[in-house]
Amino acid sequence: MSHKVLIANRGEIALRALRACKELGLKTVAVHSDGDVDLKHLRFADETVCIGPASPLESYLNVPSILSAAEVTNTDAIYPGYGFLAEDYEFAEQCEVSGFKFIGPSSKVIKQMGDKITAKTIAEDSGIPTVPGYKDALPDSEEDLLKITNKIGFPIMIKATAGGGGRGMRVARNFKEFIDGINITKQEAMNAFGNDTLYLEKYIENPRHIEVQVFGDGKGEAIHLGTRDCSLQRRHQKIIEEAPAIDIDENALDLVLNACVKLCKKLKYEGAGTIEFLYKDKEFFFIEMNTRIQVEHPVTEMITMFDLVKAQLKVALNLDITLNQTNITFKGHAMECRINAEDPFTFVPSPGLITKMHPPGGFGVRFDSHIYSGYKVPPYYDSLLAKIITATNKRSSCIKRMKNALDEFFVEGIKTNHSLHLLLMEDEVFCNNQHDINYLENIFMKQFNND
Ligand code: ADP
Repeated sequence: MSHKVLIANRGEIALRALRACKELGLKTVAVHSDGDVDLKHLRFADETVCIGPASPLESYLNVPSILSAAEVTNTDAIYPGYGFLAEDYEFAEQCEVSGFKFIGPSSKVIKQMGDKITAKTIAEDSGIPTVPGYKDALPDSEEDLLKITNKIGFPIMIKATAGGGGRGMRVARNFKEFIDGINITKQEAMNAFGNDTLYLEKYIENPRHIEVQVFGDGKGEAIHLGTRDCSLQRRHQKIIEEAPAIDIDENALDLVLNACVKLCKKLKYEGAGTIEFLYKDKEFFFIEMNTRIQVEHPVTEMITMFDLVKAQLKVALNLDITLNQTNITFKGHAMECRINAEDPFTFVPSPGLITKMHPPGGFGVRFDSHIYSGYKVPPYYDSLLAKIITATNKRSSCIKRMKNALDEFFVEGIKTNHSLHLLLMEDEVFCNNQHDINYLENIFMKQFNND
């Protein structure tokens, strides 16, 4: 009997999941909000269900509505994608309790890794290098705090254990900033997350962002699928990602890859996960684990030919899959440009009607996108329109292929960050792989500021 999967997401990732389901012969239920009736994947799903008004809180984040849709369609499993409810352990728990398989790790693992102090402790226990700092309860007296800051050394990052999405953290460069920062971050964390527990980390200046893709079968077997470099970011949002990360110290990398696999085996990790690091002066520092598929998963797929989304479905539905590290081989280089509906220089969102568009194509070009000519980009959601992925044998030719792909691609009617990507493909620092996580914002974008 064929399984039925409900896709609890929208946009490109919903289409990506639908394609994988179809390849595996699985039945699909696509849910959507009132504001999303024109989504591309709805046309290819076996069934569609409207789960509420356009506002995400009332639709894609509306757990009772999603579970009712699963109930009425006789769904077996729920695919969360990324964003929305993908890392909400209570949602995973409710799926389990309601008899639907949540496609991802157990609610317990999501909860553990969602608490940053717990996650850091678990990482350390598996031999993963972390940022030096302090994660016990902070003392009240300034004298005791001074001892701690003296030990770590400024600059120090104050972080909320419940933080996420770039919120709940602050850099302090001296003791005065530190004391003020503690009070502000505590208040912010309480307001945003209902939990004001803080911890401290040494602030790593201008690192690269390197992450490791892992995959587990939920029974204790796990593999890694190598690294990605996602250093080209703006406000902690990734803009360009590539695989593998290059110019990395081999010994440090070996140690980290083995420790990541060890962690997943220990947790009996199920499905796809990403362990994120800052990398500086040949050293890796764990920052967090994302217990879901990432936007940038295609670059890993293009250099391994391992279909991460199909593997997620297979593991969750007990279909035939064997994980074996020796079967994973790496070939060439892949790069992804995120095309967003926004002004390329001010980054102000630009929803509206796409009057005309043309996708790129050719050898080694992948276009993961839900947009089409005549599609109206709704204003309520993330601005991601498309991911252009190029793959070739090495980084330099990958950049050339990306340039061609970007030249061929056009969207009319709304603004996109397309021209920013084209400029980056010509940028010497980026082309020489000399950028870090602050390069785009602090250096590259400065040339466009006229004031
Ligand atoms: P979130 O869950 O909010 O994304 P992360 O812990 O992943 O938070 O951190 C987000 C970003 O903040 C990182 O990608 C990095 O740019 C920066 N960051 C976090 N910790 C540090 C640190 N100790 N030193 C320097 N930068 C950091």
